[in-house]
Amino acid sequence: MSTTIGKIFDLTVMKFPNKEALYDVRKNVRFTYSEWNDEVNRLANALLAEGVKKGDRVSTFTFNTEELGTSFFACAKIGAVFNPINFRLMGEEVAFILSDAEPKVVLFEKAVEPVIAAIEKRFPHIAFWYIDGDTPEYAQSYHEKVEAAETRPVEIEVDENDLCAIMYTSGTTGRPKGVMHKHRNMVEQSLIVVGSTKLGANDVGLVTAPMFHCAELHCAFLPRIHVGGSNVILHQFAPKKVLELIDSEKITKFFAAPTMWNMLLQENLSDYNIESLKLGLYGAAPMAPSLVHACHDKLGIKLVQAYGMTEMGPAITFLSEDDQLTKAGAAGQACLNHEIRIVKPNEDGPSNPDDILPPGESGEIIVQGPCMMSGYFNREEASEKAMYKGWYHSGDIGYLDEEGYLWVKDRVDDMIISGGENIYPREVEDVLHAHEGVLDVAIVGQPDDRWGESVTAFVVKKDPQVTEEELDEWCKNSDSLANYKRPRKYLFVDALPRNASGKIQKFVLRKQMEELFSKGQPT
Ligand code: ATP
Repeated sequence: MSTTIGKIFDLTVMKFPNKEALYDVRKNVRFTYSEWNDEVNRLANALLAEGVKKGDRVSTFTFNTEELGTSFFACAKIGAVFNPINFRLMGEEVAFILSDAEPKVVLFEKAVEPVIAAIEKRFPHIAFWYIDGDTPEYAQSYHEKVEAAETRPVEIEVDENDLCAIMYTSGTTGRPKGVMHKHRNMVEQSLIVVGSTKLGANDVGLVTAPMFHCAELHCAFLPRIHVGGSNVILHQFAPKKVLELIDSEKITKFFAAPTMWNMLLQENLSDYNIESLKLGLYGAAPMAPSLVHACHDKLGIKLVQAYGMTEMGPAITFLSEDDQLTKAGAAGQACLNHEIRIVKPNEDGPSNPDDILPPGESGEIIVQGPCMMSGYFNREEASEKAMYKGWYHSGDIGYLDEEGYLWVKDRVDDMIISGGENIYPREVEDVLHAHEGVLDVAIVGQPDDRWGESVTAFVVKKDPQVTEEELDEWCKNSDSLANYKRPRKYLFVDALPRNASGKIQKFVLRKQMEELFSKGQPT
């Protein structure tokens, strides 16, 4: 049997036809698996009627919606390639992806309509399908199309080695690249998550991280469907709403980026009954050990961390619930069937997979596993470089300890070199995060005539009284921070720029800093 995304969906429908599959909070719509299957089949038939063929791309440009989930499975059933686009992107960024992916159909919603309205004329060959009421004149109504289509299952041969999705990276390190995943990669990833987070049919998941990103789509939403669990889809993250839904829908497990967990902890938790919540998954960005401890203590739940990247499907390690407190700060152990190596970084090109460094020594994290992408869409050279000699080169720096746990230090590009010494921003961020007056922090390097680079801290205060002197004293007294790693400047800001998946956009901070310094401030 060829195990495709369409196949695993059909198997769940057969097993649990009358079980609730999803609840879309925005539209207040609930589907059992059998009802959802009808919807998926209708959309599959509507796409075929539009002329979408196997291998054609179908893009979505929406926040978290039932329609995004439905189109994922409809595409899988007809062998079309699903391309979810980040809803935060602006006109030119979306136009770049549409020119690169060349989809036949784009589904979009009201919240992002102005972005599409500004660029749609440049794409006369694309059919724009609108998922809300009052369809703009250049688009067609998604729901009218779906309602008019038949529920009969489509008969299209799809193989597990066929392309299933193209996911564009978030572009924190440059122009987004379309990561290609086959059905097989995604099914394997789903199985790994089912095992690592002990998912079962009784699990009710909350979809609150962005569904366009693989951390939610492959690591949370899909695995729950794989085992017959249900999904509550929240349009976008809002801390109070998340807590209300945990309470009312009896959510058992969900994924959130570290910044989301931090926001939940700022709420008045005693107003909600969150006893149903058994496990929280976090990842996509580093989480300070102090925040892991706070989640444990204040929410009273078990946590599991995933570390990975879109190119690897995404998770390559899990830090299990048993290791959370003893190994707080580590990214965990390699996922099943994955091999991780730490190799000597090479400044002139991809690092050599055979230059393996011993445990405890930091180098580039490279990895092999069954969920590795097939390459970047339309980018042969970049694909060869990224998958040099069959290993995905992550661009992250880290080390493996004697017990095989991976510790991620930072991205190669974010590392600061001051006076010839390497400083990993994350080490400094973890120390400052532990200060109770600090809500959020990001460390970046600033060009320095004497030292090459010096350390600057962008800090969001939790306690308005906290001062630079106090934070400097805190760093001086920390036994995990050498003197040369101490921030030499503090910039207090209202919020840090983050992308939709919760990663701090350090390139934005560097630019802000350049602008401030070019104006001669701060000293
Ligand atoms: P681009 O490649 O364009 O910059 P992106 O890398 O942000 O986009 P993702 O694939 O979402 O897109 O990000 C992967 C990166 O996120 C990893 O390489 C790593 O730096 C970071 N990351 C993911 N999970 C964790 C984690 N648990 N701990 C620390 N960092 C993490």
